[in-house]
Amino acid sequence: MPSPTLPQPSLLLTPGQLLDVATRLLAAAGAGAEDAAQVAAHLVDANLAGHDSHGVGMIPQYVRAIRGGVLDPRAHAEVEDRGPAVLAVDGRRGFGQVVASEAIRAGVARARDTGVALVALRNASHVGRVGAYGLQAAAAGFASVHFVNVVGHGALVAPFGGSDARLSTNPICIAIPAAGGKPPVLLDFATSRVALGKVRVALNRGEQVGEGVLIDAAGRPTTDPHVMFEEPRGAILPLGLHKGYGLALACELLAGALCGGGTVPTVPHEPDRITNNMLSFVFDPARLPGFGRLGEELAAAVDHVKGSPPADPAHPVLVAGEPELLARAGREAHGVPLERATWDQLVEAGRSVGLALQAPA
Ligand code: NAD
Repeated sequence: MPSPTLPQPSLLLTPGQLLDVATRLLAAAGAGAEDAAQVAAHLVDANLAGHDSHGVGMIPQYVRAIRGGVLDPRAHAEVEDRGPAVLAVDGRRGFGQVVASEAIRAGVARARDTGVALVALRNASHVGRVGAYGLQAAAAGFASVHFVNVVGHGALVAPFGGSDARLSTNPICIAIPAAGGKPPVLLDFATSRVALGKVRVALNRGEQVGEGVLIDAAGRPTTDPHVMFEEPRGAILPLGLHKGYGLALACELLAGALCGGGTVPTVPHEPDRITNNMLSFVFDPARLPGFGRLGEELAAAVDHVKGSPPADPAHPVLVAGEPELLARAGREAHGVPLERATWDQLVEAGRSVGLALQAPA
């Protein structure tokens, strides 16, 4: 275990090097060539967007899940038509990145006819960065709202007022397609103070997390990321007190209960299993009365909020989706830092499936 007080040195990889490592690892673990490339592209994209919590550092967990029989690397989504605008999708424990993008593709196709589609995905392995599906719909000109719950492993997040973990990090995403010369607005976050992967990244970097993010197994505040990875485990606190807790419970019911994949108390825990259920509303903004002026309104609203004088001159006001675009520009130009502990975990995952990885020169 790295010491929490000693930062770990990083490697710097180009996006191409990271993509190559990720694709080879996933293929060695049993994914077909196309699926390995798709999952790798999603993960590297998350790294480029600055969300290392949902980048290639997830691969060791995926490899363990495949070896443990809880992730089927060859499975594809099964789409069931349940009415004019309703699709139920069984992810069949396939890679979340593969089956969720199949679900959204089906939702976009349906919403072209119906104006709006409700897509109920269940039983997907970890879908990764939910914003990827908002962007997928936005690229086709569609707006979308996504509610996600997480089952199949121990709870991670304490309910507001509680002292142990009962829910998971249940993310929410709202995406509005590009208009008025502005990029898509992409709101995409966990309903907990941070995603678990961010605690893992802090652990791997030998860093502490911020105040007010974690409690230990006794319910006491702590900044030590080890409490989420060692028994007896602590919990992440919900985002925004009772409000984030309320949203997390809504995700549990909309995504878990209504999509049919279940909730934390009803789904058995299995080693290395992370299952996501996702309820997505995908709709065609061109069907709405404001569409003709959307570009003008969106540009005006974005310029208006960004025009607020920054409280700290070094940090101008940003709009959701913008931090990720800025991170991408920086990392495409200068490379993606990967902490040594994460690299070592990738090497170990490769070894477990017969692949010898060399650190890129
Ligand atoms: P986060 O706290 O970094 O918040 C990201 C969101 O806030 C983005 O929409 C971003 O554009 C916006 N944002 C950030 N800084 C901003 C600023 N200064 N001004 C305006 N907007 C700003 O995200 P997180 O909660 O750590 O989640 C990270 C990722 O983890 C997300 O992509 C999420 O989907 C994913 N996640 C997935 C699962 C799963 O089970 N699959 C679970 C939890 C989280």
